[in-house]
Amino acid sequence: MAVDDSRSAAKPLPPVTADTAPFWDACAEGRLLLQRCQDCAHWQFYPRRLCVACGGRALQWREASGRGQVKSWTIIRRAVSEAFAADAPYVVALVALAEGPTMMANIVGCDPESVAIGQPVRVTFEARKAVGGRSADIAVPQFEPDAR
Ligand SMILES: [Zn+2]
Repeated sequence: MAVDDSRSAAKPLPPVTADTAPFWDACAEGRLLLQRCQDCAHWQFYPRRLCVACGGRALQWREASGRGQVKSWTIIRRAVSEAFAADAPYVVALVALAEGPTMMANIVGCDPESVAIGQPVRVTFEARKAVGGRSADIAVPQFEPDAR
């Protein structure tokens, strides 16, 4: 069935704040950044002002490996909004990053039925166009099978 692009809604863009701007700026360059605490060496995602492990403020942005494993996943067969209708069926997964934090993302570039718990994945970035001038273009981290 053909998709009528004239009626399809744009995918929503995440809000960029002062705390998350370094993360999104790096995504636009194809790099995945995580916060790492200089006091206790804890890696964290999503971005925050304080270390969730020790409460310290000595957080530093570090480039992550972009590698991880599927921790859990589901297949969305009926998109929750028209913006994602053309993608269905698609995978929403929890990815355990090599550095420790868990990130929610889509698993792309493969048959949704082939995704499995423990599967190695690596980051890729989906460009999303801003609509209506309310925000800038953005790149959203997604993951694809890592066939290393
Ligand atoms: Zn800490």
